[in-house]
Amino acid sequence: MQERYFQKEIETMPAEQMKQLQSEKLVKQVKHVYENVPYYRDLMDKKGVTPDDIKSIEDLHKLPFLSKADLRDAYPYGLLAKPLKDCVRIQSTSGTTGRRVVAFYTQHDVDLWEDCCARAIVAAGGTDEDVCQVAYGYGLFTGGPGLNGGSHKVGCLTLPMSSGFTDRQIQFMTDLNATILCCTPSYAAYIGETLEEKGFKPEDIPLKAGIFGAEPWTEEMRRGIEKTLGIKAYDIYGLTETTGPGVAFECSEQTGMHINEDHFYAEIIDPDTGEVLPEGSKGELVFTSLDKEAFPLLRYRTRDICVLSRKKCSCGRTLIKMAKPMGRSDDMLIIRGVNVFPSQIETVLLNEGYQPNYQIIVDRKGNTDTFDVNVEMTAEHFSDTVSGVTALEKKLAEAMKVMLGINPTVHLVAPKSIVRSEGKAVRVIDKRKLHD
Ligand code: ADP
Ligand code: ZN
Repeated sequence: MQERYFQKEIETMPAEQMKQLQSEKLVKQVKHVYENVPYYRDLMDKKGVTPDDIKSIEDLHKLPFLSKADLRDAYPYGLLAKPLKDCVRIQSTSGTTGRRVVAFYTQHDVDLWEDCCARAIVAAGGTDEDVCQVAYGYGLFTGGPGLNGGSHKVGCLTLPMSSGFTDRQIQFMTDLNATILCCTPSYAAYIGETLEEKGFKPEDIPLKAGIFGAEPWTEEMRRGIEKTLGIKAYDIYGLTETTGPGVAFECSEQTGMHINEDHFYAEIIDPDTGEVLPEGSKGELVFTSLDKEAFPLLRYRTRDICVLSRKKCSCGRTLIKMAKPMGRSDDMLIIRGVNVFPSQIETVLLNEGYQPNYQIIVDRKGNTDTFDVNVEMTAEHFSDTVSGVTALEKKLAEAMKVMLGINPTVHLVAPKSIVRSEGKAVRVIDKRKLHD
């Protein structure tokens, strides 16, 4: 298939030219922020940096970082860089890890965000012939509004479903021949499971592609969803603080997501020292918004851990790529001194033939952490003897021990007993926090 682009000139721009464009935008942006955001001006003054010190993208490292704590501190208007009368939209984070933060958009900001989502849809094969079912939540959450806007820009027939009401999702999908599904990967898995129960085979489902993001998901989960729905599943990444989904998106190669670096400049830093790390190093992702007007964060620490790569991509895009972030630094659990990411558990489950329906429960008894994983039994594994179930639980616990280095207690629970997610899945219940 001939590769298509939404904004070819930008998406395939030679690296040197991109750097030039980024530098020009950065110089302007730093002035704009310094003049209009006293909160950030104070941070720059404390660091002894002025806008005159920033002459190109090479000088970016001189600027101070912003963190989620700053956003909470400055809530609601402290980081706003435009008069409210120039703003047309507010969105808010999902509050996965604490108090929500709000972001502001001018019409220009909404436009560039929707362009980013449109690039993602086109990269997933979308055209004006497609019917795009948006099953991300609408409202304050950025998923629905972002993909909705992108879908309009591409000219798809847009089904603004929002999340939930799964029977209705399926009815509209099949009656109106939806070809592209946009939602969280956990909701896509749930829709797939429901379709399967209703007797749909992958070839009966009109979808050809899915654009799934807003939460971490594994390659194993991707393969599972692709198989059940009979589609190609593309990753999409973003966060409210920068705009929403579409900061980075996957192309046909499916080996990482191209960052829309004409709008968002990415750095990888050592999360402990703040030092900028060379390309290819694993570390915390930091974004600088190069041309947003209302809420232009500079050097915002995402807490997402990943790797950047400029390796040539077969799709022809020259935009830098980021690896799938496998969870945030604050998603990482420390159990009995060992680092555990929920995504590692998901990988084991899918490799062992289970569904990604699980919940991790961590608690503390005396001075020792307890570590339990509830996993749904599947029809293939079903055993009607207690010893049969115990043997399965033991086998899973052993596979997890090999992956993690510590031993969980696995409980196989009844199918459908773990609550399904229509948005971001809640995988971890850490009861230790309640005792502190
Ligand atoms: P919250 O921080 O409250 O969840 P957002 O809805 O803005 O608010 O979520 C942004 C976060 O979601 C990102 O920082 C990242 O951790 C996660 N995320 C988004 N897309 C992806 C993706 N494709 N893969 C992994 N994580 C993702
Ligand atoms: Zn590519």
